[in-house]
Formats: sequence, C-alpha cells, structure tokens
Amino acid sequence: MKEKKDIISITFLGTGTSAGVPVVGCNCKVCTSTDTKDKRFRSSILISYKKKNILIDCSPDFRFQMLRNKVMDIDAIVFTHGHRDHTAGLDDIRGYNYILHKRIDVYLSKEVLLSLQTAFPYIFNDTRYFGAPQINTHLIENKAFSIGEVVINPIKVLHNKMEVFGYRIKNFTYITDASYISEEEISKLYQSDVLVINALRKSKHISHFSLQEALTIIEKVKPKKAYLTHMSHFMGKHEEVEKTLPDNVFLAYDDLHCGIYPNSAFLKIIFYQYYSIFINFNSVKSKSGLGTSTLISSTEPSASITKFTFPFGKEGTL
Ligand SMILES: [Zn+2]
Ligand SMILES: [Zn+2]
Ligand SMILES: [Zn+2]
Repeated sequence: MKEKKDIISITFLGTGTSAGVPVVGCNCKVCTSTDTKDKRFRSSILISYKKKNILIDCSPDFRFQMLRNKVMDIDAIVFTHGHRDHTAGLDDIRGYNYILHKRIDVYLSKEVLLSLQTAFPYIFNDTRYFGAPQINTHLIENKAFSIGEVVINPIKVLHNKMEVFGYRIKNFTYITDASYISEEEISKLYQSDVLVINALRKSKHISHFSLQEALTIIEKVKPKKAYLTHMSHFMGKHEEVEKTLPDNVFLAYDDLHCGIYPNSAFLKIIFYQYYSIFINFNSVKSKSGLGTSTLISSTEPSASITKFTFPFGKEGTL
C-alpha cells in the first residue's frame, strides 16, 4: 500500500496577485462577491512530501494562512523571487522558532537574499536583537537541489526583466509571476501531470501572463491538469471564468488541497478540504464537478483506507 508520505500533497495557501482579492477600496463584482473562491490571499503553496513541509514563498498573509490551515510545523521556505507579495510574511516565522525551538531553512537565489537583507536587515545584522526571526539561508542556482529526500528542480522564468524561479518536484510543477519562459526552460515542464501557472487577468500585462498566454503554454506543454494562480480581480468571478476554460484547466482557489501520486501510470489526484497538517484528516470533499470523495477520519492518515472517485473517473483506494 502506498503510504501518505509517497503522495505529494499540495495546499494552495493563496492564489491572488499582489493586492489580493478583494482589493482594498474596490466595489467591483469580484471584490464584493460572496463566493469564497473569489477571496484570494497573496500567492503561496505548501508542499507536504517525504515527511517535509515545504512552503513556496512567504506572503504578507502567511500568518493567517498557517493558522487557517492548522500548519503546526514547516521545514523550509523556498522563494521564487524577492517581491513583497512573496516575502513579506517572513517576520511571522518567529512562532515556529519559539514553539519548535528551531531555525527555518530558507532556499533562495543571491538576488532574493539581497532583497531580504534590505527588507529585513534585523534578521541578518551581526547585532541582531533577541526575538528576531531565525533562519538558515541556502543559496540556490538554476540546478536541482534537495531538501531531505525531496529533489526540487528550478525553472528560470522572466517576470518582465526580473529572473524568477518556478519549481518542479516529480510530476508537479509550480510557476508564478512569469511573463516569459524560454524554450529551454519550457522543456522542463513537459510530462508534468499537474502544472500550476500564473494568469493575472484577461488583458495583457507587462510582467505577468494573461489568461490567454497561460492557456497557450498549457496547450503546448499538455499537462494532465493545470491550475491558474496569482489572479487579480480583473480576471472575473471564479464561477464565470472557470466555465470558459478547457476541460483540463481550472482556476485554483485558496485552501484547495490536492494529493498527487508521483510517477503513477495514470494521474491520481485527491481533493480534500479542512486538512490539518500533522493533526488528522477531518473531512474529504472533492472539487465540485470532479466526482465524489468519502470521508477520512483518523489520527493516522497513512493507515486510513479511502475510497474515492478520481477526477478522470478511475476509482481506487489510498
Ligand atoms: Zn507576485
Ligand atoms: Zn475589485
Ligand atoms: Zn512579482
């Protein structure tokens, strides 16, 4: 039986652009929508795999994202780039420092380190004060690196002129804040079963893919499933936009969870909500329209047997 540690578990902590959705002061139909899928924190995901909880980016909403998802521990933060909507939550890792008595490993490029040193000088000063966040920095380049048993492959993309890293783990790929990907780097996206890629809005933008530009890359790379992220209120309401997308493309939304079997003969994705990292599975609910799932309730997730209908209509057990 496959154990839970063999599943790449993804939690979308935030799926909004830098201003978030709703935007402060905006009365548009998206910002005033009562649909929870139209509420978007700044973009970040949590990957749980091989007994590691790895955060991609640390958004200004980090504290609330951790509390809402009951994330009791993180092992590492991997940064995509130095913009504030991806880094501003770093001060709030102090809770983990205090409670777990450990430093947090941070993986980042030289450019991101420089921007963090400017934004958070008190973390890096020789005369750092008691209580400042405690991190271990690990510089990365555009080549594979490992966190425990998890091998991560960077993908270099351009965000207007800024270099940003997307990341691939096995058959899962995450790209945010891209406006251009070279052919050489696109070659790293092929055979992704699940591709997450940014799409800001319907109209073009200088530093982010538009909806059509993201769909063009998805069509080229042909992942089994694709999720769009880093959206602004100009994208439109979740419910209305999703109806217009190809069958294998979805708008991600905050607190969407999926589990992916790496390297399986066919794609198996589990959707569930109200998942508490390291605590238990409380309930399981599929993304609407993708089939039904049954309840898991156990303090030992790896020992649970779950029967569910896969998004492609294949049934199986976990
Ligand atoms: Zn961003
Ligand atoms: Zn708005
Ligand atoms: Zn950015």
